[in-house]
Amino acid sequence: MQIRRMTELFPELITLPETVDFSPTRAGGLKRLEKFVTRAGQDYARTRSYDFGTERRNNVSVLSPWLRHRLLTEEEVLTRVLASHSPDTAEKFVQEVFWRAYFKGWLEQRPSVWSHYQRDLMDALNSLDNDTSLASRHTDAVSGNTGIDCFDHWAKELVGTGYLHNHARIWFASIWIFTLRLPWQLGADLFLRHLIDGDPASNTLSWRWVAGLHTKGKTYLARPDNIAKYTEGRFRPTGLAKFAEPLTEPVEHPRVSFPILQMQPKEPFLLLVSEDDMTGASIMPVPPVAVVGLLATHGRSPNPVGFIPVNFAKEAMNSVLSDHEVRAQSADDWSLPIIEAAQSAGVRRIATAYAPIGPVRSRLDRAEPILREAGLTLERLIRPYDAVSWPHAKAGFFGLKKKIPNVLSQLNFIAVTK
Ligand SMILES: Cc1cc2nc3c(=O)[nH]c(=O)nc-3n(C[C@H](O)[C@H](O)[C@H](O)COP(=O)(O)OP(=O)(O)OC[C@H]3O[C@@H](n4cnc5c(N)ncnc54)[C@H](O)[C@@H]3O)c2cc1C
Repeated sequence: MQIRRMTELFPELITLPETVDFSPTRAGGLKRLEKFVTRAGQDYARTRSYDFGTERRNNVSVLSPWLRHRLLTEEEVLTRVLASHSPDTAEKFVQEVFWRAYFKGWLEQRPSVWSHYQRDLMDALNSLDNDTSLASRHTDAVSGNTGIDCFDHWAKELVGTGYLHNHARIWFASIWIFTLRLPWQLGADLFLRHLIDGDPASNTLSWRWVAGLHTKGKTYLARPDNIAKYTEGRFRPTGLAKFAEPLTEPVEHPRVSFPILQMQPKEPFLLLVSEDDMTGASIMPVPPVAVVGLLATHGRSPNPVGFIPVNFAKEAMNSVLSDHEVRAQSADDWSLPIIEAAQSAGVRRIATAYAPIGPVRSRLDRAEPILREAGLTLERLIRPYDAVSWPHAKAGFFGLKKKIPNVLSQLNFIAVTK
């Protein structure tokens, strides 16, 4: 298969209004958190399902770009919100934040879902070369040219802004799968390449959830009256599928255990910052001797990843690295830049925040034996938040949801720092 130019070019892109500022810095995330925090209680519970459009995003936090890269951590956001609201008032928001941990923990325990997705995506991309009708429907979908006004709008909003409201993501995925009858993997790939918060776990498993593969047999059908209600009449599409027959797959995905690593790097060590956790320094017992920052954003897909997510990750990492006078590097083989950085720092030990399933993890896995041969050890430290949440992500979200009070009481919430 030749890698095509998946550029999703539009005559008119929807761009971000000034009211939404995806500033790729920790300060930008903290500013957004402060702006949102008063609304995280009943306001959020009452209005969060409404997609009011790009100009009005104050009913949801829009914190996912920072949370996905851990420029802000879940603990920080929860600490700040629970300082302003009682656990009861903020219950809905707190639960939503835990969906991220649920999906990460679930995929961590069923890694074959990710490897099958990657394989099936390649098959679906290949089939575009051989099936002209499929290729033309796909081109219409990714170019926002299907004639379904809401879908076309969201396709343009996705590429133009790097963000979609949760409800729009659900409707979009449902229309993609059940009305346009396109392979779900191609839709998941489109999201992963353009969402700033594009995340292997949340994205793959949400698409599977809509398709009836995550909760087996339970699908999500996008309905015109539901779309009209929750977009306040901006859209009332016609011609949508009336049934959503669950997709099936011929494989079972066995559950595997994942290591809970709580290693303490002994001095001296090199800190490896990745886009999966840009504030990993905060979980290290002592400051590092030196820092290296490596990007894997281009590894989200075999096709080109959009400028907006690529730029967010790069600029965010540069802002984190600026104190150390190094710049973010992008590479497929991470062993070389790590060995160079370790040699120039004169250390044999590298520590990094544990990376969940995805392109960062696969690069670390490939680099590790080469580092070992070079006499270097790589330590991956799991955050306490992940260590206590992930084991409850064995089946449905309810398993983790009912443990949230326990999880919160086990965690030492850290204070929000500038
Ligand atoms: C098809 C589909 C694909 C998705 N792909 C991604 C993705 O690639 N990356 C991603 O981060 N989220 C993904 N989501 C989940 C969700 O849509 C976004 O996390 C959320 O819309 C982010 O906007 P927000 O920060 O304003 O959310 P808020 O409503 O303000 O929620 C606060 C935080 O809770 C977490 N959260 C809320 N809902 C979910 C959820 N359903 N799943 C996981 N975490 C959640 C996020 O960290 C979010 O920032 C997807 C959902 C669907 C239906």
